[in-house]
Amino acid sequence: MDKKTLGLYIHIPFCIRKCLYCDFPSYGGMEEYWDSYTAALTDELILRSEEFKGYTIKTIFIGGGTPSLLPPQHIDKILNVVYSHYRVLKGCEGTIESNPGTLSLDKLKTYASLGINRLSMGLQASQDEILKRLGRIHTYKDFELAVKLAHDAGFVNINADIIFGIPDQTLEEWDETLSRVLSFDLTHISCYSLIIEEGTPFYRMREEGSLKPADDDLDRIMYNHALNRFADAGFVQYEISNFSKPHYQCQHNMNYWERGEYIGAGAGAHSFFRNRRYANTSDVLKYMEGIKNKSPVLEENSYIVADEALAERMILGLRLNKGVNLREVSSQFGIDVEIKYRKSLEDLLNKELIEMENGFVKLTRKGMDLANIVFGEFI
Ligand code: SF4
Repeated sequence: MDKKTLGLYIHIPFCIRKCLYCDFPSYGGMEEYWDSYTAALTDELILRSEEFKGYTIKTIFIGGGTPSLLPPQHIDKILNVVYSHYRVLKGCEGTIESNPGTLSLDKLKTYASLGINRLSMGLQASQDEILKRLGRIHTYKDFELAVKLAHDAGFVNINADIIFGIPDQTLEEWDETLSRVLSFDLTHISCYSLIIEEGTPFYRMREEGSLKPADDDLDRIMYNHALNRFADAGFVQYEISNFSKPHYQCQHNMNYWERGEYIGAGAGAHSFFRNRRYANTSDVLKYMEGIKNKSPVLEENSYIVADEALAERMILGLRLNKGVNLREVSSQFGIDVEIKYRKSLEDLLNKELIEMENGFVKLTRKGMDLANIVFGEFI
């Protein structure tokens, strides 16, 4: 992104109920707050708009939670405030995240009429029995229908999220999910390994011994199997976990990985602006109270020192298949990056975890499997 552009992230923290593996800031059963939260969110957007005068919003991402759970009039209100208080690039990428069990043709048509041109759907797995074990509220049939409705509403740019390394998931089941997801006319697939996060029911179940995490070797076999299947189907990998048809990379997320600036609005939303990273409280009630008092309650707030900024730039950039342009980063930070990291780069090259080509450093396939080891060298 150029200097004067920003990504805008809008967080909707509501879900029908919590999935058993989820540690995102999202809550089930808060229907009575949908109206007041939307009002607080629009107030926050208005309150903060002065700070971003002179900037152009280049991408909008409405994430959650389950934004598609809200009545579409709420999304209408939010986007109207964005369009009236911020300068927004015409035709910019506008994404909404959705749960296939919450979509209707009406909702989708409203989204399209509001300039939302990218739909992201959480499928996760194509077997109803696995969806149930994950605590998902939808079935595979719901996803099939949602994709059809999205096409009927005029959506071309559609992403599906899928997960592997689910406890008790077999390679055959994973392959079936891949075959099914590839049978739709999608432009983008995000594919993540399930991490059992502290504080989730899955974490407790693992501690109690009633949930056996996936075997590490099987997890890596599943990942590499997906890489082959996607490549065969014409999907280009552009980030460790993201694959797209040519020209359909997610611009909003590219901005994160390229360390571009962004604003996050809503409970739990993160911002990165003028070398400062900060995040609103993820407590919905505290957040609304803070906005009422004309100041969002921050949960995190830190200025990034030069060394940290460089490490972030390297680690985020290495997630991308195109890698990091060492000359560009050197001139950006006024330091010769090849000299600063010489020992680490040599070590990683010897272990075949990275490769260097035309001034770019990038992960090898082996490096993608062991990305955390590579990233650790830059911290
Ligand atoms: S739908 Fe998404 S955000 Fe909501 S609980 Fe499930 S995984 Fe978390």
